[in-house]
Amino acid sequence: MRIRFLGTGTSHGVPVLGCGCPVCSSADPRDARYRSSVLVIGDSGERILIDAGPEFRLQALAARLSGLDALLVTHAHADHVHGIDDVRPLTRGRPLPVYASGQDVAELRHRFSYAFSAGQPGGGKPRLELVDLDEPGGAGESPRPVRVGTVPVRPFPLMHGERRVLGYRLGGLAYATDCSSVPESSKRSLIGLDLLVLGALRLRPHPTHLSVDEALALALELRPARLVLTHICHDLSHAELQAYCDDKGLPFPAGPAYDGLELEL
Ligand SMILES: [Zn+2]
Ligand SMILES: [Zn+2]
Ligand SMILES: [Zn+2]
Repeated sequence: MRIRFLGTGTSHGVPVLGCGCPVCSSADPRDARYRSSVLVIGDSGERILIDAGPEFRLQALAARLSGLDALLVTHAHADHVHGIDDVRPLTRGRPLPVYASGQDVAELRHRFSYAFSAGQPGGGKPRLELVDLDEPGGAGESPRPVRVGTVPVRPFPLMHGERRVLGYRLGGLAYATDCSSVPESSKRSLIGLDLLVLGALRLRPHPTHLSVDEALALALELRPARLVLTHICHDLSHAELQAYCDDKGLPFPAGPAYDGLELEL
């Protein structure tokens, strides 16, 4: 399995429009962060996208992506789904299965209503097949696991402030971006990981996102073989955040991702 980080920035991206801070004006390409998203390539070539943010088209071109087998949605905030229309050329052969929580299936159906209504022939729209991972039990139950080809996909709930969102475990990989706390039941899904990807906004605390210290403390509980941080704002450069993690002397390799980073699992 291989993971490619398509984007690693927080909701406004980095550089932030109108900002002249050292990170936003950095010459280090690792400090330019598109909105957060990853592409996972399974051992049999399955192409699984987690979130489709506003830069999806540019990210897909950079990754030379020519097809998709599934889209896993963490939650329907704009920075995670507003690139969905751009999957259109990749859905000509067949509709794209889009997996999400019940709440987010409803939000996607509303936000992208044109994609689900009859239009004139030739009118271009993405062919999306929404799959509610909370069916049949509803949001009170654990979301149900699915498979994409040979890749087992296990969704797990996270709390993003007061909003319930989803993380995903695919084999030895777990991806948990926007969250401020992880329910105990979800922590049990996160044992024995080869790679844990956690959202870590900045050093200062935030009401709906883990800070860097909170993410590191969570990783110390879960003990993955490797930790990578994503959904990063403009407070710290890549080099500063890597140095901060190195200084902690963690028992596993840990540091920030950057756009275009690829890791083999
Ligand atoms: Zn976000
Ligand atoms: Zn800035
Ligand atoms: Zn969010």
